[in-house]
Amino acid sequence: DSQAAAAAIQEIIELFAEVCATHEAELGRLDAVAGDGDHGQGMVLGTRGAVEAGSTALARGAGARTLLVHAGAAWAESAGGTSGALWGSALTAAGRALSDDSGVDEAAGVQALLNAVEAVQRLGGARSGDKTMVDAAAPFSESLKQRFDAGNGLAAALASAATVATEAAASTADLKARLGRSRVLGDKSLGTPDPGATSFALLMEALADHLNK
Ligand code: ADP
Ligand code: MG
Ligand code: MG
Repeated sequence: DSQAAAAAIQEIIELFAEVCATHEAELGRLDAVAGDGDHGQGMVLGTRGAVEAGSTALARGAGARTLLVHAGAAWAESAGGTSGALWGSALTAAGRALSDDSGVDEAAGVQALLNAVEAVQRLGGARSGDKTMVDAAAPFSESLKQRFDAGNGLAAALASAATVATEAAASTADLKARLGRSRVLGDKSLGTPDPGATSFALLMEALADHLNK
């Protein structure tokens, strides 16, 4: 039902916060190579804000849609920075794919993830090859849709898509940054993977593991 779905989503947001806390220093180091070094901190602050907003929403009896919309707004506000705005809009867009009055079936879960990635692409305007989060998120989304449409369940499709995201994030090391703060120091980023693509892959791997437990 709707309350159980909201609680399950809150668990995922809490998982995201744990993963970001674990990888805070590493993400900061990646961002320091050609950016301002705050990506780990931004992800920690954003996910922490999302956890708080989600837990408030849950206590008020919110369904999946409202919980995600509120958590997304809080993520953007708490993180500051480019990736915070993008992740915030991703959660909010995911929420808009869901209902407050029912549970979340597998097709709705997939649609929520596809909408989240589409929101990042729309808001950020990055294209593939710009060395951003989109270089992991776009192939992730394509793989997820393809696997799910081919008849894999959500958990299996997500496991494949997360692997695709991890490989794509690693491949961003070969790209020069053209967008975001890193653009000024684009050449310096060569050889280092994009921080936002890296954190995206880490979170999707964690989500896939969680759903495959
Ligand atoms: P800031 O750049 O404001 O310090 P962060 O360090 O938290 O924010 O995030 C940097 C990450 O944001 C980059 O590694 C990149 O993945 C992502 N990013 C930057 N600009 C865009 C964009 N236009 N579209 C998608 N992702 C972007
Ligand atoms: Mg930064
Ligand atoms: Mg910054």
